[in-house]
Amino acid sequence: MGILNRRRWLEGIGAAFLAGRTPPRAFARGGDGDANRADKMSLELSEFQPKSMLHVPETKVARSRFPVIDLHTHLSRGAESKDGVSLGEKMQFLAPPEELLRVMDRKNIRTMVNLTGGVGAGLEETIRRYQTPYPDRFLVFTEPWWGRVNEPGYGKFQADEIERAQRAGARGLKILKTLGLYLREGITSGPLVKVDDRRFDPMWEACGGLNLPVAIHVSDPEAFFLPIDRFNERFEELNNHPDWSFYGKDFPSNAELLEARNRVFARHPKTQFIALHVGNNAENLAYVSECMDRFPNLHVELGARIGELGRQPRAARKFFDRYQDRILFGTDAVPHGVETPQQVFGDNLYEIYYRFLETEDEYFDYAPAPVPPQGRWRIYGLGLSETILRKVYYENAARLLGVKV
Ligand SMILES: [Zn+2]
Repeated sequence: MGILNRRRWLEGIGAAFLAGRTPPRAFARGGDGDANRADKMSLELSEFQPKSMLHVPETKVARSRFPVIDLHTHLSRGAESKDGVSLGEKMQFLAPPEELLRVMDRKNIRTMVNLTGGVGAGLEETIRRYQTPYPDRFLVFTEPWWGRVNEPGYGKFQADEIERAQRAGARGLKILKTLGLYLREGITSGPLVKVDDRRFDPMWEACGGLNLPVAIHVSDPEAFFLPIDRFNERFEELNNHPDWSFYGKDFPSNAELLEARNRVFARHPKTQFIALHVGNNAENLAYVSECMDRFPNLHVELGARIGELGRQPRAARKFFDRYQDRILFGTDAVPHGVETPQQVFGDNLYEIYYRFLETEDEYFDYAPAPVPPQGRWRIYGLGLSETILRKVYYENAARLLGVKV
């Protein structure tokens, strides 16, 4: 369909809707000239699983070219939570280390960083299970005590807890999107607590002083802040998980959240921040680049965003060239589960990441799933140089974490 025809066609639809009439045949039937065919099939979008007919190389990358530090995994999580806020010290463990090590050895994963290590006694148990028996293979981060932010003296308490966590073995701090999107003044009620709330200043400072990097997730994909309708490119994903939508209610905009986060980066220049999911704005690499230029203490990680990077391979390639010293490998892997195929820990997941980073293969799935789970598109490999691969796979992370590979 030519541009002019398409415009007339769209105008036709609009006019018909405004007039309250049935849309023109072209809309109802596809406008392919056989509008009167009675036997035309209809197909539910969810059942559409087109197989690509492209004949292009398919490279299997069973092992990464260099050892990997997966900076972003979830091997444990808080056992109790309410309205998106993790409460208390009790932890849930998703897989024993021995089970994970089998995949890690096959895939050349030297170390997995378990970001959601918990707090207090829970943190100690997480460290005992993973890091103590395998100190080269698993590292554990701690988290804030979200349930106590409205208690007097929280700022000092939280800063002290960071120090205590480090003594217990924690290697960094993880901030979930709880901050900005779930945590409220009354913990689960009242107004949302702002990302740059002053109560957290002592915590950010403590991390800087103790050389503990902060892995921070603020906001979410832009489409999660838009109505769940036929114009939303992540319609199916949001339709499957309506609770992931931050459209309306009292939620701040995506831009407001990111700007509040940036004020934190600016206020704590000695603290090293790793903004997860490509700075949480992989759809807008120009914006992420601006942030990287403004904040030398900012690093990004790739978890669950190769779908975004891989659909803009030329811009992504430039981004890797430019910021090669501050990009970290991560997957957001979670052992077991079926809800989010782009995150299920296993051989398939890592092979896709390696293929994306190492090869120039074209038009392949970014997740091991029959339908691309984050949006109906496919990706293109970046074919990064050995120098950049080495940095992204482990060197940058090793430097931040203070480990030797
Ligand atoms: Zn994550």
